[in-house]
Amino acid sequence: MRELYTPDDLTNWAACSQEAGAPLKLAVLGWPVAHSLSPVFQNAALARLGRPERYVRIETPPERLAETVTAMRAAGFTGANVTIPHKQAVLPLCDDADPLARRIGAANTLDFRSGRAAAFNTDAPAFARVIRDEFGMDLRDLRVLILGAGGGAGAAFAHQCAAESCERLVLVNRTPSKARDLAAALAPSFGGAKVDGPAARLCAREWRDDILREELETIDLIVNATPLGLRRTDPSPLHESLISPHHLVFDSVYGRGRTPLTEAARRAGARAIDGLPLLVEQGALAFEIWFDAEAPRAVMRDALKSAAAA
Ligand code: NAP
Repeated sequence: MRELYTPDDLTNWAACSQEAGAPLKLAVLGWPVAHSLSPVFQNAALARLGRPERYVRIETPPERLAETVTAMRAAGFTGANVTIPHKQAVLPLCDDADPLARRIGAANTLDFRSGRAAAFNTDAPAFARVIRDEFGMDLRDLRVLILGAGGGAGAAFAHQCAAESCERLVLVNRTPSKARDLAAALAPSFGGAKVDGPAARLCAREWRDDILREELETIDLIVNATPLGLRRTDPSPLHESLISPHHLVFDSVYGRGRTPLTEAARRAGARAIDGLPLLVEQGALAFEIWFDAEAPRAVMRDALKSAAAA
């Protein structure tokens, strides 16, 4: 089956489905999106449930996102996932948004079944579940630092930390004003905590090694919500000298083998996981929205394992 589609293909989607020999009713939209493993495990889940639909990738440049959402709705898609860099931009393009997606200001799942585009965010609940399953810890007991707190995933993780009242939340972003805005939005969940100051329960800090070194002394969980690591040549978002053995490291990026951050964590003696468990869980929750049926998580995980081993 073809690996990659473009918005131009949506003008004659029936022909694409015919060529594929199956109704292409689900897709992931991103820019870039060729790396996405979502089709691998979503198609395995569809096959397990005996469903005829197929899930594909549509490489969608930012300037074509609006027409793509409109064309998918018109073409009778069941749903979609939305990934980098569209999670925030897609929200105002939707007819409806569930309260969580609206609060976070980002969506990763669209549901077209009613003929309207409804937006959901499954990254946030999936993040909490993955931290619990993989590290055996609840967010409420953790002091968390998020790198990339200006993007859709960073906002989802931060909102989940706030909803579960984590012990401490430090927001760091390349563009500092976005982390400051997010901290201001979350302040009510932290009892009106100060936004700046060394001992603040909630704060936005600049991305500088000396500041990170100071903050990381009182952090349990480090989260990478930047795309650093998606490309083979990317550096780790944190140098290993900033990571200590007591840290839990969660990299939302995934790839074949270790990511630059999980490799840096390994060298520093810290426990680390990459984004594959999150990929499965956010996808399973999306699947449950589209099909009102429990997602076959074990099948999804096995499909990913086989793809990673291939
Ligand atoms: P996004 O909305 O485009 O946000 C990207 C974030 O990363 C922004 O905060 C941005 O900072 C920052 N950033 C971008 N390039 C950077 C660089 N070179 N150095 C430092 N910071 C940089 O993207 P997203 O949807 O949140 O996704 C972010 C990453 O998380 C992607 O790699 C995505 O694959 C991954 N993710 C994985 C899963 C999963 O299931 N495993 C789920 C969600 C997300 P500025 O604000 O300064 O631009």
